[in-house]
Amino acid sequence: MADELDKGIDVKYLTYLDGTVYKTKDLSTLSDYILLPSFEEVRDSKKKYAQSFKLQYLNTDHYNAKILVEPYRDGYVVQNRPNRPLTQQEFDDAYAVDYMRIYHPSYKEKVPAIEEVKFSLISNRGCYGGCNFCALTFHQGRIIQTRSHESILEEAKKIIAEPDFKGYIHDVGGPTANFRAPACDKQTKMGVCPTKQCLWPKPCNNLKVDHTDYLSLLRQLRELPSVKKVFVRSGIRYDYLMYDKDDTFFKELIQHHISGQLKVAPEHISNRVLDKMGKPRSELYKKFVEKYYRINAEYDKNQYLVPYLMSSHPGSDLNAAIELAEYLRDIHHQPEQVQDFYPTLGTLSTAMYYTGLDPRDNTPVYVAKNAHEKAMQRALIQYRNPANYDLVYEALVKANRQDLIGFSKKCLIRPKTAQKGRNYEKGYQKNHYRR
Ligand code: SF4
Repeated sequence: MADELDKGIDVKYLTYLDGTVYKTKDLSTLSDYILLPSFEEVRDSKKKYAQSFKLQYLNTDHYNAKILVEPYRDGYVVQNRPNRPLTQQEFDDAYAVDYMRIYHPSYKEKVPAIEEVKFSLISNRGCYGGCNFCALTFHQGRIIQTRSHESILEEAKKIIAEPDFKGYIHDVGGPTANFRAPACDKQTKMGVCPTKQCLWPKPCNNLKVDHTDYLSLLRQLRELPSVKKVFVRSGIRYDYLMYDKDDTFFKELIQHHISGQLKVAPEHISNRVLDKMGKPRSELYKKFVEKYYRINAEYDKNQYLVPYLMSSHPGSDLNAAIELAEYLRDIHHQPEQVQDFYPTLGTLSTAMYYTGLDPRDNTPVYVAKNAHEKAMQRALIQYRNPANYDLVYEALVKANRQDLIGFSKKCLIRPKTAQKGRNYEKGYQKNHYRR
């Protein structure tokens, strides 16, 4: 766009650039496009909204997406095809610029987040993980784009030269740390499959599972002079890790690249909810947990696993939230933080939340919208917190699960009579998921 403006082209003629959107009253120059339901239709009908979302969802890939047109009042909004993925050279060039490597001087006070960012390295963009609550696919695409090892190592040397570098590279990652290549060979020639996910509900037969490139990068980084540790703090797709028949990466990750705790995102444990999230099923997560601790024991490491969990995602009712609470009881874990589902622009989950439908097949989806029910689902994940007692009690009664109120091991909370006067606060300890 900048180049075209530089050539003196008036902005009103810049309607041909991939990755841009414009408003027009005239469609006569367009030929191959999809006409979406009008703005007025999607405003007035949730079914139409879901239908429009599905068309947008199927048209997010540079190679096979069509131009989308939404009639809007007396004109149209036109969305051109998504921009093409960056080449490695372009990606490297963007990082070869001589950045200041600090926040803007207009900030008068220290920005604390700089500590984490300053010593972290971006290795990729894009994600084919396909979590339905994530909008990343819509702006970076499903095709993984990577920086070269040389570019990353070059930046690492700049990091090392910083006067306050203490020997720790905090992260080598991106949207998903362990994706370092497109999911399959077909993607870079014909684009991604619009109606099929690479990892869900099971890994595609064409998926290439290979950690050798990422591993080689991490090995080179940890060999650099003055580097004590190289951590991986961006999310690891544990399912992709589990599909690798070669355990070398998993073992070296545990040996060298975890700073005491590995954060993973199972997000839930109920398969009904996981299916709506587009996340792998709980059986696989449980196998991953087993393997994680087994390898840790092999290397005499005592490292935690911190699972990220989300309450009230579309598809999650009180029974699903209780299933999750029971799982947490069984593994003796009380999360310190819980993410409550929050609708964000452009995601399939948000379309479900708003319409109560799964736009992919128009089937109804249960959605906890009421603030009180959302609070109950959230409280169940931290059922041991005394502040949540009343909400958890109410949720269990409402779901007819009084069997979980009492004194036996399986009970989540004690009866109200026992609760009264008891210094319950003392019994509540934040703990990590540890064996
Ligand atoms: S063939 Fe499989 S791995 Fe390749 S884009 Fe399609 S779903 Fe993904």
